[in-house]
Amino acid sequence: MRYFSLNYNSKNTLFQDAVKKGLAPDRGLYFPERIPKLSKSFFDGIDKMSIPEMAYRVIKPYIGNQIFKDKLMEIVSETLDFDFPIIEITNDIGALELFHGPTLAFKDVGARFMARALGHLNETSKEKITVLVATSGDTGGAVANGFLGIKGINVIILYPKGKISEIQEKQLTTLGQNITAMKVDGVFDDCQEMVKTAFLDPALSEVNLTSANSINIARWLPQMFYYFIAYRSLKSKNKKLVFSVPSGNFGNICAGIMAQQMGLPIDHFIASTNVNDAVPRYLETGAYYPKPTLQTISNAMDVGNPSNFVRIQKIFNNDLVKMKKILSGFRFTDQDTKKAMKEIHKISGYVADPHGAVGYLGLKEYFLNQKENLYGVFLETAHPSKFLDSVNQTLNLEVQIPNRLKETLSRNKFSIPIKDYSELRDYLLN
Ligand SMILES: *Cc1c(COP(=O)(O)O)cnc(C)c1O
Repeated sequence: MRYFSLNYNSKNTLFQDAVKKGLAPDRGLYFPERIPKLSKSFFDGIDKMSIPEMAYRVIKPYIGNQIFKDKLMEIVSETLDFDFPIIEITNDIGALELFHGPTLAFKDVGARFMARALGHLNETSKEKITVLVATSGDTGGAVANGFLGIKGINVIILYPKGKISEIQEKQLTTLGQNITAMKVDGVFDDCQEMVKTAFLDPALSEVNLTSANSINIARWLPQMFYYFIAYRSLKSKNKKLVFSVPSGNFGNICAGIMAQQMGLPIDHFIASTNVNDAVPRYLETGAYYPKPTLQTISNAMDVGNPSNFVRIQKIFNNDLVKMKKILSGFRFTDQDTKKAMKEIHKISGYVADPHGAVGYLGLKEYFLNQKENLYGVFLETAHPSKFLDSVNQTLNLEVQIPNRLKETLSRNKFSIPIKDYSELRDYLLN
């Protein structure tokens, strides 16, 4: 399998090179030259396969021989070494919990896969790799945790100062070793822009930079795994499946759509956003015009200009009619979100975090017009304790903090404040 740049101005390249580069030299995102199809026998036997076996068969065509079978099996087994339960909220709505990994958000899956794959691909090389990553909240912690102690790789995490939760900040500023955190005077899009600029900066040509955002194919593609895991446990319902994905940078939902294009029987996707609604507006009007980022209580989705949107457009070959058959989009305010958290709690006793609640709202909106034999899944993308203040205040309760998080909270934060790109460059050159 080769990967091409969605700016169409770079050479096609193999998995290893695309992962090490992160972004193509022309600043485009890499995309596989074809989307492999899984066989009918794969889906017929899916509930009899182990999860690692299933994941191996999903990701294998994207990697070819660049990672050998035993190693790749080991990587997927370690990556998926926790539970992905679906909790019933109503008869036709379930919450797919993606937060049972070490940093309590779905990004653990992509980050753990990428850290292991990149560590392995760089094992025999003498060159050090620097992973540069921008975070709207949860990526930083997942990437820090995934890469901690991996030889030959340094990680620099940029996060918007004062715009992520205390717990998120602790998760990315307290590990030390090969992990460095920088707090940027700005919003997430400023952080993301700095990362993109660094990649193209000729002054940094000697530094081997890559990205651990979902623009990197090794972060993005493994996110397909839990759509397959969910299908595997819902198959016996014999209902049409609809997935609502709380979306910010659109890597997660784009991975789901890829899984569907590989043959996974998912009927429809819903992009559920907060007021940062570039994609729902596009689906409505056919015009894509990003706006500056607004701050919300679902902060990991505070993205004004989602990077992965170009990949979604590519999947549908820029055909809006085709796209709308598979994808709907809805936006919700903080007020809607809080109301939904209360509603979910009232009808089921379930404590949803603000991101999951946005996903729930998207399903409800979609169900208004069609209800025929459907089962809706919203992705519970993070544990409610990661957004402690807004969850406790909204639901008037005290969320239990899992032990693995308590330990992180007891540590001291350390980060380097930066104001603009030149400070990042100076740091990278030293
Ligand atoms: C990152 C994140 C999202 C958004 O995911 P994208 O892939 O960027 O669309 C949603 N919820 C939580 C909790 C997140 O951490």
